[in-house]
Amino acid sequence: MRREAKECKQCGRTIYFDGICVSCRAENERNRILALSQEEITVAIGQICREIEEKGKLDRESGLFMKLLDYRDIDTSEIAETAWKKNLFHPCEMYKDAPDHVIVAMMEKIKQDDIPSMLANRLLRCLAVRGGEEVFKLFLELEKNPRKWQEKLYVSPSRYAVEGGWSFDGEGRKLRTNFDKCYPMVKGTAEKKMRSPVKIGTRTKEKCLRCGCGIVNLMEIDGRDPRLDFLGIDSVVKAKCCPNCFEFSEGDYCRYTIDGESEIVYAEDAYEMEDYLGERGLAELTSNTYVLGERPVPPRYAADWEGGSSIGGFAFWIQDCDIRLCPDCGKPMKYLAQIQWDTVLDAMEGNAYIEICKDCRIMAVLHQQT
Ligand SMILES: [Zn+2]
Ligand SMILES: [Zn+2]
Ligand SMILES: [Zn+2]
Repeated sequence: MRREAKECKQCGRTIYFDGICVSCRAENERNRILALSQEEITVAIGQICREIEEKGKLDRESGLFMKLLDYRDIDTSEIAETAWKKNLFHPCEMYKDAPDHVIVAMMEKIKQDDIPSMLANRLLRCLAVRGGEEVFKLFLELEKNPRKWQEKLYVSPSRYAVEGGWSFDGEGRKLRTNFDKCYPMVKGTAEKKMRSPVKIGTRTKEKCLRCGCGIVNLMEIDGRDPRLDFLGIDSVVKAKCCPNCFEFSEGDYCRYTIDGESEIVYAEDAYEMEDYLGERGLAELTSNTYVLGERPVPPRYAADWEGGSSIGGFAFWIQDCDIRLCPDCGKPMKYLAQIQWDTVLDAMEGNAYIEICKDCRIMAVLHQQT
């Protein structure tokens, strides 16, 4: 049966049911959370703690918790305290501001050899989100002297740490895998986009060697804008890729120079692909009018369904958090930006992610979808 095309009552985009579209619903919910007063937030935190206390899980209020965390960056110490008493470790973000005594107790637990690896997995995630000097030292020690539970885990503590935006290299030096500030990309006009220090999807003259589609700068970033001081990039950098086939690859890389040029690094086993995007898709992608927002937002602002596109902060990983190791120096790269694909290409799904190693002047471009 063919579904009848209708219009979203809020934005007018084509949908196949009565009412408003998914992204308008998400936007309304975000605006509601952004408008909450401090008292209302306190009440909401109480509500979240009550569910944890009564049911030993976060279910009905879990959406509320994630949205308060993402859009308002709430202090989670009370929630962490309550969750710890109930042995609840999911979602791990509850432990972002866990009090010291909770963290000390958690660290004692994970130092043991004989805890189930499933529990170790959960504790590692919670500790990673909390971070801090003591947790870093512990992770380093666990990496050097793996406990028995490690045998059944796929990755080691340094890979868990990236969920909290940090990690360490082979020499035990701590490094950040996230930038601490975040700016959203917001709707502007074609004219404003010309002046925006961050642009999504700009054309180049190159064609993809794999599929022949036009190569784009998925994101063009002018780090000299004062808003972007936190990036520590004092030139224009371009994350260049083929918008058609990067979705099907394992992740593409490009090298950039400080004079604003970039060169795609094709994998040696690059195979021929069909150009599904075509000129029409390319035109749609490059005609978006997103511009850099005026003010910073909380670091997890875009780490949500329909979180939109943003630079800095945390990503919304549709699958697992995927911080790549730099192909040149082998250290974890730093998460730089996210593009919500259907906001620039209506029929597409998922998110594009850009990561950077400033030491080696290399960027990675990845795509994930459900
Ligand atoms: Zn809508
Ligand atoms: Zn291609
Ligand atoms: Zn590197």
